[in-house]
Amino acid sequence: MSNQNCWEIKKCGREEGGDKTADLGVCPAASEASCNGINSGTNAGRICWAIAGTFCGEKVQGDFAQKSVSCMSCEVFKQVKMEEGAESFVLLKPGQVYQAASK
Ligand code: SF4
Repeated sequence: MSNQNCWEIKKCGREEGGDKTADLGVCPAASEASCNGINSGTNAGRICWAIAGTFCGEKVQGDFAQKSVSCMSCEVFKQVKMEEGAESFVLLKPGQVYQAASK
């Protein structure tokens, strides 16, 4: 099991000390300490889909409801889900409720 965080899988350079933090800063997935350890990750590195305002695709993303369709087809989501297995995989961060994006 690799336990790679999203920034290691995507090589986005938006983690602490990454080479792309000059413009937008450190991505919330890399700094969200309240999610540390979820899906065996560092901060929200293995639950980035549940974090609002992440920087995937070189722009600030919306909340989970707005980005869930693209996140669930992302290699990070698929890899973490496969590695954690159905028993241990965590979809939402503590206290989070999934609400479908309003049209
Ligand atoms: S959520 Fe996306 S932009 Fe943010 S650290 Fe993870 S891979 Fe990089």
